[in-house]
Amino acid sequence: MKYYLILDIGGTKTSGALFTEDGKIVEDYVHVSPSKTFLGEEAVYQNTKDVLVHIINHFSLEMEDVLGIGVGSPGPLDAEKGIIIHAPLMGWRNFPIVERLEADFGKKVLLDNDGNLGALAEVRMGVAKGLQNVIYMTVSTGCGGGIVVNGQVYRGSSFGAGEVGHMSIMPEGLTCPCGSVGCFELYASGTAINNRLLIDMEKGIQSKAFDLAEHKAENLNGKVLNKAAELGDAYALEVYRKEGYYLGIGIANQFNFFNPQTIVLGGGVTKAKKFFHETLMETLKQRCIQPIDDGSVRYSIMNDRVVLYGAYCLIKEYTDKTY
Ligand SMILES: [Zn+2]
Repeated sequence: MKYYLILDIGGTKTSGALFTEDGKIVEDYVHVSPSKTFLGEEAVYQNTKDVLVHIINHFSLEMEDVLGIGVGSPGPLDAEKGIIIHAPLMGWRNFPIVERLEADFGKKVLLDNDGNLGALAEVRMGVAKGLQNVIYMTVSTGCGGGIVVNGQVYRGSSFGAGEVGHMSIMPEGLTCPCGSVGCFELYASGTAINNRLLIDMEKGIQSKAFDLAEHKAENLNGKVLNKAAELGDAYALEVYRKEGYYLGIGIANQFNFFNPQTIVLGGGVTKAKKFFHETLMETLKQRCIQPIDDGSVRYSIMNDRVVLYGAYCLIKEYTDKTY
């Protein structure tokens, strides 16, 4: 048996898994380790490397049985040069992750960003399998994305395509850390929802969500909001209706611009899809030039593992072509 070592580097946690040649996670085992951010460039790298070492030891793997290593990381990065250009949480600036991993493990390493790998995973193995023109968008802390055109990931001229979170939807809106104003993710991400909850709780608005959070700011999150919505809480349902509306605006822009066959949504916020899906679809139908139907929006079922699957597809397609 031959295998692929797969790594998903994140700002808070880094995950590793061993994949079979045909894309199954061996023993359904994913090793997750805190990313040890802020410890400096080298310590963070060692920690990242240790995730792979852990997988190798866990399976008593012989390196001759490893066909290659696929790595997903937040951008901005240069996939061709294998460099992470800027990852503030990791202390990495122009960090040559591919060169380092290739030197340490003696295997071909390929790198791409979360959004691109999410898109790749969905069109190769996920709910958009076999489709040619697809956008993948994750709605979690921020909103990231990836674009597949004619069956291939479209990366842009400097690997910067798919930054859907920073399309401006409110010209006079909130200021974004990116320097722009009114960015989509300031309205539609999980962080945006949390901020809205905090502001409304401080205003004295009544909701079961705030009761469930014991009126403490640190307890405000998607979980309490979801629970409150399940209980029929009017405020919680309205927050999700707004979420559907903002998502609809951002997604309609993408439909009008790219005319994809479908948009796949992933990320933690989509766990509450039953509360926002209807408003999302209404907003799309109102704003899209081309017809929208039930298949126009799909929800990822790969959840936390989508980047792992994408990184597997990336390295697998490379080695299939090479060997
Ligand atoms: Zn922005």
